[in-house]
Amino acid sequence: MHAARPIIIAGAGIGGLTLAIALARRGILSIVIERAPKLEEIGAGLQLSPNASRILDRLGLGPEIDDAGIQPDSIRLMDGRNGQPIARLGLGFATETRWGAPYRLIHRAKLQSILARAVVDAGLSIRLGTELTHFVETPDGVAVHLKSRIANESMVGSALVGADGVRSIIRSHLGGGPLAFSGQIAWRATLPHGARRETAVWLGPGAHLVSYPLDRSGQLNLVAVTKGTPREGWAEPGDPSELLGMFADWAEPVQTILRAAPGWTTWPLYDSSSPPEWGEGHITLLGDAAHPVLPHLAQGAALAIEDAAVLAARLAETPDDIAGSFRAYEAERTPRAMAIQAAARRNGEIFRLGGIAAKARNTALRLMGEERFRARFDWVYGYRAA
Ligand SMILES: Cc1cc2nc3c(=O)[nH]c(=O)nc-3n(C[C@H](O)[C@H](O)[C@H](O)COP(=O)(O)OP(=O)(O)OC[C@H]3O[C@@H](n4cnc5c(N)ncnc54)[C@H](O)[C@@H]3O)c2cc1C
Repeated sequence: MHAARPIIIAGAGIGGLTLAIALARRGILSIVIERAPKLEEIGAGLQLSPNASRILDRLGLGPEIDDAGIQPDSIRLMDGRNGQPIARLGLGFATETRWGAPYRLIHRAKLQSILARAVVDAGLSIRLGTELTHFVETPDGVAVHLKSRIANESMVGSALVGADGVRSIIRSHLGGGPLAFSGQIAWRATLPHGARRETAVWLGPGAHLVSYPLDRSGQLNLVAVTKGTPREGWAEPGDPSELLGMFADWAEPVQTILRAAPGWTTWPLYDSSSPPEWGEGHITLLGDAAHPVLPHLAQGAALAIEDAAVLAARLAETPDDIAGSFRAYEAERTPRAMAIQAAARRNGEIFRLGGIAAKARNTALRLMGEERFRARFDWVYGYRAA
């Protein structure tokens, strides 16, 4: 690999930053280009399942993440209409022994700043307020065009990784498959306190609600998923009366939480059913840019973190054949990403069942028992990337 030429990573989201750290740990130089002028609060909470935690632990970030977030005791499925429990998955010690790493909950902005600090501590730079607008392959790498408030400039690198999220321009330049609006909107809000140390998922016809603490102060993260029409932007303000109307006949605890939360924002949810073109030559994609996934299995950031670990490992194995290592990475990650995309889609359908189908679901889950319920997550949480 050309020592003086970094790998250019477009996007300082969870995926791009994790990649820069994973590459640095293997002695591979990169630079991160980020369109946003600062890394600020986007989203709110993230659940980090053991498959993601294991990688972050290996990068040495576990203690800092534990300080900033919280490890829940359990995940509980509740019937949103009658308020009755359906199933419980104990976490904590059981998680570490079975899947080798903890389940964690954290504010996305806190995780992003922990990752950004680790990138800078590794001697790398993050160019904020800089948008990657074009790129071309050169005989031995890539040339990219960057636009910022100060200037337009070109930069050459040994390779380009598009970690630029669900509306990736690198994906669209590569001719990646179309994004499809899923017909669903996520409504997000936080409450300053009141959280139990658990993830609760309230299921009901046509909608569901997920709540979990973000830290030890008890700040509560809320994600309500409903039907909706496509919207242009992310994090647009949502009308609370519209949301409350959709949950009008749900159990009292659900309505109490929804009424108490201020400042709802709405997020259109996208899906992609066909495998996109992941890359060509010295260019590849990572995270949501490669495989947008519905949030119903809480695996989008986890997939991006897994991608980063696998990509760094493949590059370290064959540093003189970047294109070859990119194709090996894409081949390894495509089936995993597609399986998670499909499982997330299916989970959403199961969450939102109504009538007799919902009763059958609840009975099946109650009869299953905790141990068999836990085993259903082995392929997701037990996955060992690289
Ligand atoms: C409601 C909801 C709940 C979720 N909950 C979870 C959860 O609990 N657990 C989980 O694992 N996942 C969850 N996810 C998914 C997770 O948030 C995403 O999958 C994850 O953040 C994707 O990371 P990324 O790095 O691929 O992309 P992003 O985080 O989107 O980062 C992309 C970055 O690229 C930058 N960028 C874009 N274009 C350019 C450009 N041209 N030049 C330079 N920079 C550019 C953007 O500004 C951005 O900073 C959830 C998603 C939603 C919507």
